[in-house]
Amino acid sequence: SVREKINLNHLIAEYLESPECLNTKKHFINGSIDADLTTDLVPILASPVHIKKCLMNLVNNAVEAMAGKGRVTLTSWNETVVGESRNGHHLVDGKYVVLQVADDGPGISGVDIEHIFEPFYTKKVMGKSGTGLGLTVVWNTVKDHSGRIFVSSNPGETVFYLYFPAYSGND
Ligand code: ADP
Ligand code: MG
Repeated sequence: SVREKINLNHLIAEYLESPECLNTKKHFINGSIDADLTTDLVPILASPVHIKKCLMNLVNNAVEAMAGKGRVTLTSWNETVVGESRNGHHLVDGKYVVLQVADDGPGISGVDIEHIFEPFYTKKVMGKSGTGLGLTVVWNTVKDHSGRIFVSSNPGETVFYLYFPAYSGND
């Protein structure tokens, strides 16, 4: 896929105005999908189509977990990582752009959270309301972008963190 030097905020804005997102909002009658974006975000080298697909999959999961009522928040920021780990996984030192997708839904159980990124793992009706592939696509996309993904969840809150390496090239 074609990579572009791009500001993640532009992709979030494009996603929020896309037919896919408008359709999701239509089914989220008493819910909200909002963005809280850092204005001075550094660029990343990314495939816009794939990143927007990730946004769609993560937001749809959040909305589907909440039965028509709740809040989904998309947040972005710059982060410099030095000698840190997340969820027990080491994160390579460097500059990142972080995309956070948070919801105030029921959360993911400790058993399920071990498996959610596996292909075909779904708690929905397979083939009808779910395929179990949404998060697999997200995982693969983040990996393709040399990024890392983390999830933290408890009853009342689920947060996905996608770390993309900041682009420091000259073009
Ligand atoms: P699908 O949506 O087709 O089930 P996904 O790979 O997108 O497949 O998600 C796998 C499972 O992870 C879902 O079935 C659901 O149980 C769980 N999940 C994902 N995101 C959330 C969320 N925000 N809140 C609660 N559960 C979630
Ligand atoms: Mg899904």
